[in-house]
Amino acid sequence: MTGLIVVASALLGLAVGSFLNVVIWRVPRHESVVSPPSHCPGCDAEIAPRDNIPVLSWLILRGRCRRCGVHISARYPLVEAGTGALWAMLALRFDDTWALPAYLVLAAGLVALSLIDLDTFLLPNRIVYPLTVVVVALFGVAAIVGDDSAAFVRALIGGGATFAVFLGLHLVSPRGMGFGDVKLSFVLGVALGWVSGPTVFLGMFLAFLLGSVVGILLIVTKVRSRRDHVPFGPFLAAGTMLALLLGDPLLAAVGR
Ligand SMILES: [Zn+2]
Repeated sequence: MTGLIVVASALLGLAVGSFLNVVIWRVPRHESVVSPPSHCPGCDAEIAPRDNIPVLSWLILRGRCRRCGVHISARYPLVEAGTGALWAMLALRFDDTWALPAYLVLAAGLVALSLIDLDTFLLPNRIVYPLTVVVVALFGVAAIVGDDSAAFVRALIGGGATFAVFLGLHLVSPRGMGFGDVKLSFVLGVALGWVSGPTVFLGMFLAFLLGSVVGILLIVTKVRSRRDHVPFGPFLAAGTMLALLLGDPLLAAVGR
């Protein structure tokens, strides 16, 4: 049964990743994510369904448009493969809980938000708010179906506590901690809190650790200067996902 859920999640994740590519491109431009269908950025031709198969089409066409030959960024198949891989790993980790749908939706939202944050330094409300509502609702359903109200209460406390800490950091240093990060922190705390209190701490600790290490590396290698802004959203997403997937062995290792 686990194998079936993992394979189904991986395939569905690939297809969702294809949709996320549309979201990542269009949401910051305030365009509809439903219509029109995808177009080639070079010749503007509509992309045929056979050329829109996640990862495979890009590989078969060697990263070029079938019609005009313009180069298509490797980011498109990477987003698709990454979403498929994340969904497969989450399915493996949470296949025995009703909370799996909430985690899959969260992962998809975080993939889109991370890339949009890298592109624009913004975490759009148009994604953060609906993501928060849907994920909290799915945890609510999981609590009812799985008869686990304790996990739901723990999740809401995790979300509230994380939000409060981030709001405090934002008030102390508005430049260091953007308000977009504050708004996103609630749903991250909810998702981590569903697992356990220590998982909330671990997720945020990993986010700040990754952010600091990569930030220092970027300055040392002179990719960015000390004054440049480095978006924090991707680190929040990475810390959360790492704590969700590897939290139990990591916490066991430090004696929790
Ligand atoms: Zn083209």
